[in-house]
Amino acid sequence: MSELADCRPEVIVVGAGAAGAAAAFHLARLGREVLLLDAAAFPRSKPCGGGMAASVQRWFPFDLRPAVDTVVERVRFTWALQDPVLAELPGEAPFWIVRRSRLDAFLAEQGVAAGVDFQPSTEVRSLRPVAGGWRVEVQGPDGTPQGLQARAVVVADGSGSRLAGPLGLGPRRPRFASTVSVELEGEVSDPAAARFDFGLVRQGFCWAFPRQGGYSIGLGTFVGRDPVAAEAVLTRLLPSLGFAPGAGVRSAGQLRLWDGHHALHGDGVVLAGDAASLCDPFLAEGLRPALLSGCQAAFAIDRWLGGEAGALAAYSATMRREWGESMAWGRRMAQVFYRVPRVGYQLGIKRPTAPRRIAQILSGEMGYGDIAQRVIRRLLLRNG
Ligand SMILES: Cc1cc2nc3c(=O)[nH]c(=O)nc-3n(C[C@H](O)[C@H](O)[C@H](O)COP(=O)(O)OP(=O)(O)OC[C@H]3O[C@@H](n4cnc5c(N)ncnc54)[C@H](O)[C@@H]3O)c2cc1C
Repeated sequence: MSELADCRPEVIVVGAGAAGAAAAFHLARLGREVLLLDAAAFPRSKPCGGGMAASVQRWFPFDLRPAVDTVVERVRFTWALQDPVLAELPGEAPFWIVRRSRLDAFLAEQGVAAGVDFQPSTEVRSLRPVAGGWRVEVQGPDGTPQGLQARAVVVADGSGSRLAGPLGLGPRRPRFASTVSVELEGEVSDPAAARFDFGLVRQGFCWAFPRQGGYSIGLGTFVGRDPVAAEAVLTRLLPSLGFAPGAGVRSAGQLRLWDGHHALHGDGVVLAGDAASLCDPFLAEGLRPALLSGCQAAFAIDRWLGGEAGALAAYSATMRREWGESMAWGRRMAQVFYRVPRVGYQLGIKRPTAPRRIAQILSGEMGYGDIAQRVIRRLLLRNG
């Protein structure tokens, strides 16, 4: 902590997850003095399927593949483990599975190599605007509270963010998906196939992503407030993968979902990643928007520090255009699909063109807006 007392960063980034580590790297690369703080000791694990379109590579000048665990070549969709649809992913839109313990530490390492001062095991307790910037109260590994100051702050403290609300940024009452994740160690029958089932989880879906030596399993409900009924689902899902119903370690969580267009910036402060409520309300994709917002936040803060007064407002506008517009349609699709999922599976997922469309959406080649109106009309016509 004594080292921290001496440091005078231009920017403090709170949270070294995908969003914060990406922001810190780009800020350092642009020549800014950056202090990256994370409450956890690194490397840290995190409940996450780790599925991520390879297209995120275009936002980084270094090769991300050292952090990639598996390359997915096909996707297997089922309805309550029956009625399968197998879709080969087009070669131009590959899908990666990463381990978060590796990806996040790897991004932070790249940041450190670019000049970031990274302090894990350091929790930010509060933020307060002061003359010339922000006062940041932290508690380091030895438990001593300390005050730091920076001209600008990136808030990337994840779905459980305690800093976004008091800043009055993002949705006033965030909406959450209820999730359960399970890490399974054992044999994987098809190491290049990701599985999605839409019939086992009420108002949501479950997935099984292959990784070296096992699967990452996830369950999520996206509509309503009921917690996911995990044990009933896992009792059926795990044996279908060749595992005992009680195998693996369960961890329950809440994932902050995109829920409307909101300002993501204040004076010298921006939200990024889950803290900014960017996660896809239909397919729970949170890594790509976390990385995108981290990069965009860095570019915006660099311009703002350089004297461009409107740069942070432009960040909110960019995230709305590049991500929010598609998510507005994704939210509408989720509201219709998860209320009538059986019809949705038959009319949406089982269409010959659907798997390619899903791959195109996950890769960023298409937005939900490109398909939503047709899908919603089809579902509403059939259902009512
Ligand atoms: C079960 C599950 C499965 C998922 N699977 C996928 C998937 O396959 N693909 C996908 O794209 N998305 C997935 N997601 C979503 C994805 O995990 C998140 O969207 C992503 O982690 C967001 O990254 P982030 O950097 O915003 O937040 P995080 O990765 O949560 O990072 C936040 C960091 O902030 C730190 N922190 C928190 N508070 C403080 C504080 N006060 N001071 C300092 N540090 C702090 C934390 O320690 C943490 O390291 C999944 C989510 C869940 C729950």
